[in-house]
Amino acid sequence: MSSKSFFLSWIPGACLILLASCSTPSKNLTRYEFERPQMGVPFRIVLYASSSKLAAETAESAFQIISDLNMIFSDYEASSETSKLSAQSGSGKSMTASPEMLLLLEKSLALSKKSGGAFDLTVGPLVGVWKKARREKKLPSKSTIEETLTRVGWDKIQLDRKQGAVRLVATGMKLDFGGIAKGYAADEALKSIRRAGMSRALVAAAGDIALGEPPPGAKGWKIELDAGNGGKTFLSLRNCGLSTSGDLFQFLEIDGKRYSHIIDPRNGQALEQSSTATVIAPTATEADSLATTFSVLGPDHSSILTSKHRAIEVRFLIKQGEKTAVKVSSGFMKYYHTHEQSLARSAPGGWKILE
Ligand code: ADP
Ligand code: MG
Repeated sequence: MSSKSFFLSWIPGACLILLASCSTPSKNLTRYEFERPQMGVPFRIVLYASSSKLAAETAESAFQIISDLNMIFSDYEASSETSKLSAQSGSGKSMTASPEMLLLLEKSLALSKKSGGAFDLTVGPLVGVWKKARREKKLPSKSTIEETLTRVGWDKIQLDRKQGAVRLVATGMKLDFGGIAKGYAADEALKSIRRAGMSRALVAAAGDIALGEPPPGAKGWKIELDAGNGGKTFLSLRNCGLSTSGDLFQFLEIDGKRYSHIIDPRNGQALEQSSTATVIAPTATEADSLATTFSVLGPDHSSILTSKHRAIEVRFLIKQGEKTAVKVSSGFMKYYHTHEQSLARSAPGGWKILE
């Protein structure tokens, strides 16, 4: 492989396109596909079922689960549990939280701790500041960032596990589940489809995907990724989560610099869009939250999280001027489809830059 082939032009754009299964469904199973806008993105369900009625009913209840979760985690809906909790911040009052809210709070706080604050649900006020910057095409001032940071920090979330209650310590805090809730909703939707007896299924929330058993006759779901050079890479995946963060569509450009919708909560700055992280993890909840985390940590500091968690793999596309470099964790390439696996065999342990 010549170095040039992995250092080609940067192609902005979303990375994930789901391909139709290449295998023939077994006799009694037919492939069904459903799509509906949920949580601000198109949610797609693909499942193999014995009848169209069963497929439609199952998809309908899965969409209902996603819609119910949106009413917990949306920071957009004023009546959501998240909005109510944020509205109470600084009042000294605790709020009894739903089991789903408690679970994602627990998972998020654990990741905040592990990542040294790179992932942080309390990033909401900073997201607001940067949204305004995007609207006005003007960078926030240093003092605005400093003031906003006083309302940010995962240590300002107090969780009473015994009582199942939560309290936000500082006034003006705002929780933002945007980096984890879509993955969680995809997992929960997939679980419900499995419970209905259809294990060969997949739920995709734009770039956050929960994958079940593969289509009949296939070893895995074939997923297409942007290779970063205008070409495509194919993954073969089953029973796991896949997520891409750092969508290059969502950026703000000021003075020639691109600012991402992902924020480094440690200094209040929006990331300067320079990399995209694609994560394979046991669940979509983990893949989603880790993809955001890896985007913040960047390729040089992410191996801490992958080496401790063997089932987690990440691929970075890194913008270097007009070129793109690809950096993968040691096990990522074993998920490459067919011919690309020859590359995987030659990869040594640890990080490898393909060039
Ligand atoms: P996408 O929404 O494109 O799938 P992500 O999964 O990376 O991308 O989530 C980005 C969203 O997560 C942002 O829009 C914001 O709501 C929230 N967010 C931004 N920065 C952080 C952070 N450091 N930690 C946790 N959540 C974040
Ligand atoms: Mg994410």
